[in-house]
Amino acid sequence: MAGLTLLAWLVTGVATDGRFGAAPVAAQELTARLARLEQPPTTSVEPADPARPPSSHAEPAPAAQPPGSAGDDAWGFEDEEAEQQAETWVDLLRPQLLDVSLTVAFLTIALVSFFRKSRALKYVTLALSVGYLGIVKSQMVSITDIFRLADLNVPTFRDGVTWYVFTGFAVVSTVLWGRVYCGRICAFGAFTQLMDAILPKKLRLEPPRWLERRASWIKYGLLASTVTYYLVTKHFAIYRYVEPFWMYARTADVVLWSMLGTLLLATVFVRNMYCRFLCPVGATLGIISLATVFGIKRWSECKACKICEKTCEWGAIEGPRIIKTECVRCDDCERVYADQQKCPHWLIPVIRSRKIAEAQAAGRPIPQFIPQVD
Ligand code: SF4
Ligand code: SF4
Ligand code: SF4
Repeated sequence: MAGLTLLAWLVTGVATDGRFGAAPVAAQELTARLARLEQPPTTSVEPADPARPPSSHAEPAPAAQPPGSAGDDAWGFEDEEAEQQAETWVDLLRPQLLDVSLTVAFLTIALVSFFRKSRALKYVTLALSVGYLGIVKSQMVSITDIFRLADLNVPTFRDGVTWYVFTGFAVVSTVLWGRVYCGRICAFGAFTQLMDAILPKKLRLEPPRWLERRASWIKYGLLASTVTYYLVTKHFAIYRYVEPFWMYARTADVVLWSMLGTLLLATVFVRNMYCRFLCPVGATLGIISLATVFGIKRWSECKACKICEKTCEWGAIEGPRIIKTECVRCDDCERVYADQQKCPHWLIPVIRSRKIAEAQAAGRPIPQFIPQVD
C-alpha cells in the first residue's frame, strides 16, 4: 500500500495539474480509493436529499455508467470493481431474502383472499397491509415511482428485488384483474377501508352520483399536474403534498400533519375519500386497468337490475357497466353476483319454475314470461 501511495503521489501530481504541490491531497484520495475497493460494494443508496421519501420506497439506484465512461477512473479500477460485484451477487441478494420472502407471502395471502372472495380474509389482508407494509416497512407504490420512471432512474434489480416484486405485482395484477392493489394491498387504502368498517355508518355522507363522477376526475388532474411540475422543476419533495403515505414513516412538519388530519377527518364522513377522488397512484392504476384482461362478469339481468350498483361503495357500477378505472376489485358485487338467494339471475328461473308448477297444479293456464334479452 505504501508503494502504491508513493506511485499515486508521483503520478497524480503530474496528472492533475502538473504541479507536485497538489499531489499529497490527490495521493490521499487515491489511497482512500484503494481502501474502498477492498470494501464490499454497497447494496443500497441513501437519499441525497433529506426531503426525499423515507425508507417507504426503494431508493433510486445511481444512474448506471455506460462502459468506458469512467471519467476519473484513470486507473482502470472499474473492471476490477465490476469483477468484485459479480462475485458478490449472492451476497447482495442474501440480505434481501427475508424481506422478499415476507413480501411474497403477503402478496400470496392477498391473492388467496381475492380468488376466494372471502370477506374475512380480505380484512385479514387489510390488517396485514397496515401492520406490515405500513407500520413495519412503510412501503407503498408512490408517485415518486412515477417520477423515477420518468427519469429512467429506477433501482437496479440486485439492489431492489423487493421493489421489483412489489411494483411489478401492482402493475401486472392491474393488467390481469384491475386495481387489486388498491382493493387490498396499499397500506393507506387498507387503513381507510378499516376506518370505514369500524366507524358507524350513520356518519357517512354519500355525495350525489353526478358529484361523485365529476370528483373522481380530480385525481387525474392531480396526477398530470404533479408529474408535469416534477418534470419541470425536479422538485422531488412535492410528493408529500399530494400523497399522505409518509404518515407511516412519521416524517413531516406541522403543515403536513394538519393536512393529513383534515383528510382523515373528511374520510370519517366521505368513505375512502382520498382513494376515490384524489390519489394520483390510484389514477395511474385506473388508467392501466383500462387494459384489464379478466374483468368482472355481468349477467344479462344486470341491464335492468340495480342491486350491484347500490352495493358498490366505490361508485364503480353504472347500470350494467363496471367502470374499470374506479373499481378496486373489492368483491362486494361479485359476492352478490354469485349469491343464488340475492341475484335475480338465479332467482328469476326459480320463481318462473315455481309459478309454472303452481299454475299446473291449479289447472290454470301456464303464465307467459317475457323472454330474456342477452
Ligand atoms: S387509490 Fe391510492 S391510496 Fe387508495 S389504495 Fe389506491 S394507491 Fe392506495
Ligand atoms: S344482483 Fe345479479 S343481476 Fe343484479 S346487478 Fe348484480 S349480478 Fe347483475
Ligand atoms: S363492488 Fe364496485 S369496486 Fe367492488 S368489485 Fe364491484 S364494481 Fe368493483
